[in-house]
Amino acid sequence: MQAADGKVVAFHFTLTNDAGEILDQSDEGSGLVYLHGHGQLIPGLERNLAGKEEGDQFSVTLPPEDAYGERDDEMIQTISRSAFQEGAEIKAGMQFEAEGEDGDTVVTVASVEGDEVIIDGNHPLAGLALTFEVEVAQVRDATEEEMEHGHAHEPGGHHDH
Ligand code: ZN
Repeated sequence: MQAADGKVVAFHFTLTNDAGEILDQSDEGSGLVYLHGHGQLIPGLERNLAGKEEGDQFSVTLPPEDAYGERDDEMIQTISRSAFQEGAEIKAGMQFEAEGEDGDTVVTVASVEGDEVIIDGNHPLAGLALTFEVEVAQVRDATEEEMEHGHAHEPGGHHDH
């Protein structure tokens, strides 16, 4: 069975940057599970998975526009330290979730200067060319419930929402 719209695909991956450093990898076990055709993956990765079958392996390097996009300087903002919980330790490199226009986004503290905190709302992987080593573990038909929800359910992972 080939990965296509309406199929649930499980795959293992290792993600590296152009220096060959590992940035992320799938958990052992079932790997990453997603519903094909519903924008759950970055565009370049989903496009390369289309038509692949269980056991297929491939490596692909995606430019930023096919991955997490280019960095946008307008996503860098200065906010007052008082916007954070009093007494909270704020330092460069910390990440927290914030509500953005398209749902929750991860914001990174770029630097702290006195009472000002410089935050960067770019995705941590924005602006990077990313190489994925992929092995397809499973391709199956989505269940009706998964199609209704528009996402894959982990094995045995029935849930209410
Ligand atoms: Zn669901």
